[in-house]
Amino acid sequence: MKILANDGISKSGIDQLENAGFNVETKHVNQSDLVNHINENKIEVILVRSATEIRNDIIDHCPSIKIIGRGGVGMDNINVEYAKEKGLLVINTPAASSQSVAELVMAHLFSISRSVFESNRNMPENGENDFKVLKKKYAKGIELRGKTLGIIGFGRIGQNTAKYALGAGMNILAYDPFMEKASIEMDIAGQKMEVTIDTTSMEELLSNSDFISLHVPMPKDGNAIIGNNEFEKMKDGVRIVNAARGGVIDEKALINALHSNKVSFAALDVFVGEPKPSKELLNNEKISLTPHIGAATLEAQDRIGEELAEKIINFYKK
Ligand code: NAD
Repeated sequence: MKILANDGISKSGIDQLENAGFNVETKHVNQSDLVNHINENKIEVILVRSATEIRNDIIDHCPSIKIIGRGGVGMDNINVEYAKEKGLLVINTPAASSQSVAELVMAHLFSISRSVFESNRNMPENGENDFKVLKKKYAKGIELRGKTLGIIGFGRIGQNTAKYALGAGMNILAYDPFMEKASIEMDIAGQKMEVTIDTTSMEELLSNSDFISLHVPMPKDGNAIIGNNEFEKMKDGVRIVNAARGGVIDEKALINALHSNKVSFAALDVFVGEPKPSKELLNNEKISLTPHIGAATLEAQDRIGEELAEKIINFYKK
């Protein structure tokens, strides 16, 4: 039984599959050669991340395929409905990277509360001659403890972020139109605790949060969730993180809000027009930047590989 992991898969996932008798190929095949390669090798399971697209041409012309697997969350690169109509099983691993994204959000929160990102940019060039100037510049940091974090979208990643933020002593305001409350399970040094958080209105969140983090899918209408109107309602000097999807925050409105000091600092892991983000964002000295690495930890790669392996093995057991 042949599996093609066209965008790679963790060693732990490969081991699990090979131990169950599967043959796993990890050499990347170019998009234009995929149909031929799958047919020549009678591939039954094609695994992808975000690079390879599984469109109708593959679904229609590769009769050996039984499972399409996406390591990660978004399925924009797969024609899921069409594949299902044709009787294929489509699997993904939505929960495997929630913790990784939450930790990156915490890294950005700490970074934008103490200007760590900006200090890191300036110290190599100016640290030797202007140490005291930089020290003065970055000496106006704030602590996370006691501050309020507004979380927009209280699903897997939102709740994982809340868990870390609660651990850091923050208060949480959560907005999610599809949820009234959520129970966050904390495990601190083996002592278990459950914290119930009632969700609140968007207005309440915007006007009372010191930090805001977004964890929503991109709305189907393509409109930003945070734009000029929402920025206006926020506290002066608010700090904001987007590790959801580029465009969930209106990037132009963000630049304006940073310029007017409505927003004091921002952190972005996701951008409109990836992989070519706007230069204006990249060059803004008030934005902490990462290139869409929220889910990309070694632990998440292992969990993704293992979850895919489990689902494939279970399918063939039936
Ligand atoms: P999830 O489905 O578990 O949670 C999303 C939540 O958002 C749901 O509870 C839903 O009810 C809520 N929601 C939907 N529309 C909303 C709106 N208009 N306002 C407020 N809440 C709304 O998803 P998740 O796994 O937590 O992922 C959240 C986001 O993170 C997604 O956009 C995903 O693409 C993104 N993500 C980013 C990375 C990264 O590398 N940076 C990695 C994984 C996921």
